[in-house]
Parts: sequence; C-alpha cells; structure tokens
Amino acid sequence: MSMRLSRSIVGEAEARAVSRVLLEDGYLGMGNEVRLFEEELAQYLGVKPEQVITTNTGTAALHLAVDAVAAQCRVPGKPEVLVPSLTFVASFQAITAAGCVPVACDVLAETGTLDLADAEKRITPNTIALMYVDYASNPWHLDEVYDFARRKGLRVIEDAAHAFGCKHDGRKIGSFGDMVCFSFDGIKNITCGEGGCLVAFDAEAGQLASDGRLLSVENDAQKRFAGARSWDPDVKRQGWRYHMSNIMAAIGRVQLSRLEEEFIPARRALAARYAERLAAVPHVALLHTDPRDFVVRHIMPVRILDGRKDAVKEFLATQDLPTGVHYKPNHLLTYFGHGESLPVTEQLYAELVTLPLHPALTLEDVDAVCTGIEEALRR
Ligand SMILES: *Cc1c(COP(=O)(O)O)cnc(C)c1O
Repeated sequence: MSMRLSRSIVGEAEARAVSRVLLEDGYLGMGNEVRLFEEELAQYLGVKPEQVITTNTGTAALHLAVDAVAAQCRVPGKPEVLVPSLTFVASFQAITAAGCVPVACDVLAETGTLDLADAEKRITPNTIALMYVDYASNPWHLDEVYDFARRKGLRVIEDAAHAFGCKHDGRKIGSFGDMVCFSFDGIKNITCGEGGCLVAFDAEAGQLASDGRLLSVENDAQKRFAGARSWDPDVKRQGWRYHMSNIMAAIGRVQLSRLEEEFIPARRALAARYAERLAAVPHVALLHTDPRDFVVRHIMPVRILDGRKDAVKEFLATQDLPTGVHYKPNHLLTYFGHGESLPVTEQLYAELVTLPLHPALTLEDVDAVCTGIEEALRR
C-alpha cells in the first residue's frame, strides 16, 4: 500500500463508541455524549467545562470566536483582524464570515509563524484582534504574542488547529489565553470525523459563542445538557447551526483517551526522526522550535532551499512518496488578495514541502522519505 501524507487513526474502540450511540443512546444530536466530551476536554486542558464549546468544525469555532470578539469591540469602521497569510484558508474565511476584514501579515522565515513587527505596522483604529496560527504546531514565542496584544489593546484568537496536545513554556495550548480554537477534522492530532472546539477565557465571549453555535437560542447548550429543550426561547442576534453531534463526540472521547499514550509519542518520534535525518542535509532547513515548547507536529513542513523544491517534490513523486503544500498564501488567492507583497511568506511558499506524518507511519517510512530527499538533492 502506498504511503499517505496524513490520515485518520481510528479503530475498534471508536467503532464501538459510535455503535453505542447509534444503538443504545437513542439520541444522535447534541446531548449527553457532547457534554461528557466537553467535560473531558476541560479536564485535559485544566479549564472549566463551561469554557469549552464544541463545534461541528474547527472553522466554525474560529467563526464563532471572531464573531464574539467583534460583538464586544467597538471601532469606527469595519473591524479588522491581523492574520498570517501562511495559513489554511479557513482562518481567512472565518474572519470574513464574521463581517470582519482579514489583514494579511508576513511570517518569520525560521518558523512560519506571525511576524509581530510586520503585524504592528498594519494596526489601524479598526484593528480588534490578531489571529495567531500555531503553524506546524509551533506555539513560537506565544507569551510575546499575548504581551504584544495587551500593549496594543487587541484581543487574541488562536487558530490552534495544529496544536492540540502542544505546550508553550510548560502550559498546554488551550489552558490559557483569550479565544483558543482547535480542529478535530479527520487528520488533526485527534479527530471526531469532523469537529472542533473553542476554549474561551472571557465568560461573556464564551456565552456568545456557545449560544451562537445553536442559532443564538439563549442558554440552549445548558438546557440540552440538562436533558431539556428551549420551547420558549428568545433570540437576540445572528446564530448558526454549528454544534457537535453525539456521534462525533463519541469518536472524540475515544481519540482523547488515546492522545497522550499513543498519538503524541508516535508523532513526536516520527518528527524527531525527520529532524535527526535531515538536520545536516545541504539545501534542507528545518523549521525552528523553542526548547521551552512541547511540539506535537500535525504536519511536517521543511524548507528546501536554493530553488531545489520542485526537483525534490518531483523525485519523491516518482518514488510514490507523497508530499503536500501548507499553504498557498491567502494574499495570493483571488478572494483575499489586494495586490500586497509579503516577501517572507512568498519566499517560504517557494521553499516549503510537507512530508508524510501520521501515527501509522513507521521510522522506516520516514527513513525512506529522507533517503528520497537526499537522492533528489544529489542528482
Ligand atoms: C484544519 C484547520 C482549520 C479548520 O479546521 P476544520 O476543522 O477543518 O474546519 C483551521 N485552521 C488551520 C490552520 C487548520 O489546519
């Protein structure tokens, strides 16, 4: 079987959990299983259950987070959110979906994460927040990001889609901050099939998002978890149908129980093998990580320097070794570009190659990819 770039790792335990909901629970929507998943996520992160707001996708969590922050911030014009261009288009779409303007910022060449000096130049009276993306699971200098936001009076929305299970300076991502969004889509560090969650550290914003996922029916989540429904609701603002189902939560609960002992060690061992094998290879540069951080790679992008990227990608393809691109910068997309130039982002786009990474790979698979890269570069 050929190697996969990424994949879901699910088995008997997830299948049993889904059949339990299908055959025994009798309610497939958002109910007890979702409540338990939120409690277990809260316990894992060390936050209160009411701070965890599960959603049907990570993009929905981002949209709700931006919407809640925008509802709390008063600015003279259309609210703007600073965001690195090097991210999944979901980050940008979530900002525009909430009626805000994504302001594309440059990234640091060493990490692919937001360049605060560049972001600072783009602040206007309409800037309400910055969206920080833990690119390739890297919470690079996250404390500086929060200090910067505090100094500038900005809110922080973390697109931590890559970073479930990671730590910054000893603290889990999602255990501190402002509005932290995770994705549980099929290939992330844990999956619910699709899914996501938001962890809110501002109670009012959390309540707006929690209601927002249920069509802004006030306190609907709390009622559902108590086995009740809102037959006489009030609705005061726009909402969406973004909640998680019991089926998804059942998968997520099993995945969460496998994270620490299975998924994290596997991803870290494979990433360490890549680092060891590629550290001294000419024309290859690994993205930097901070020794204070605990990084659980969701994707494994590396830089291929000196214009050799296409040669490497093409050779690996001939060896049936898959590679990916994370990401085409958003300012180069028709819908989001305004002719701006972001030199470091564009340079990285010309260099980055994503190598296969998921817990079902073996160290021998990683060796095969690294040998392929070495051979491509020798040619
Ligand atoms: C996966 C991902 C998302 C969106 O998550 P979905 O659950 O797929 O909607 C957002 N941002 C980044 C950086 C991602 O990788």
